[in-house]
Amino acid sequence: MGGTKKNNPPFPDYYETLELPYGATAEAIRTNFRRLAKYFHPDIPLTGSEEAFIKIFTAYRTLSSQVRTKYDEIYKKYQAARFLQKQVSLSAPIVLPPSRVTFSTGILDLAKRGLMRKGFRTKDRRKVTGINYDIVVHIKEKEAIRRVIALIPLTVRIVCRDCMGGDPHCSSCGGAGSYKSSRNLKVEFPPSTLQNNRLFEFDLSKFRPDSFTHFKKKLLRVKLQIERKIPLPFEAGPVGK
Ligand SMILES: [Zn+2]
Repeated sequence: MGGTKKNNPPFPDYYETLELPYGATAEAIRTNFRRLAKYFHPDIPLTGSEEAFIKIFTAYRTLSSQVRTKYDEIYKKYQAARFLQKQVSLSAPIVLPPSRVTFSTGILDLAKRGLMRKGFRTKDRRKVTGINYDIVVHIKEKEAIRRVIALIPLTVRIVCRDCMGGDPHCSSCGGAGSYKSSRNLKVEFPPSTLQNNRLFEFDLSKFRPDSFTHFKKKLLRVKLQIERKIPLPFEAGPVGK
């Protein structure tokens, strides 16, 4: 069984208090109460605790009397509600904050390697860096058991509504026929797909964020990175130079 939560539950779990399963026999209740009472009795040095003793005594008094029938009724309802609540919270997706979506290679990193000069195309940069994805989605280990939703900002072209892209003298778009803008692409990963370093390809050519708008990119490659808890500086090992 899992550990007891620090905040008090709205309904006391007397079975848990006496370290017993629901439906335990009267004999088991008595035996466990005696064992725990010997341990927590305020007169016992070191382990004695008035608070803990009152808790087990209250549990024992309820489960060893006629009140138990009524208690069990409420207990079952409470457990069912708690189970449902847990199912709902597990089925709700996690929407990642924008900071968890990063571009495959930072511009600074590319600049340092001399890959940002004019005439150097993204395709060529990829060849040099060996990076075959556009976006990295960072997921924490503890999140990898639920559906994860990432919002990926992408460049779009929006067809000019005034000229529908057909007037070279249009004053709204200056004759370009479209505007550059950006839209978030909502991408969902089911729990079964959440594996570290897994690559996903999304065909954007068939997908439109809204009418008159299309993504500039035709194919989007996304890499998942599942990160363990980042150790604190003093937990990390020595850093080599
Ligand atoms: Zn226009």
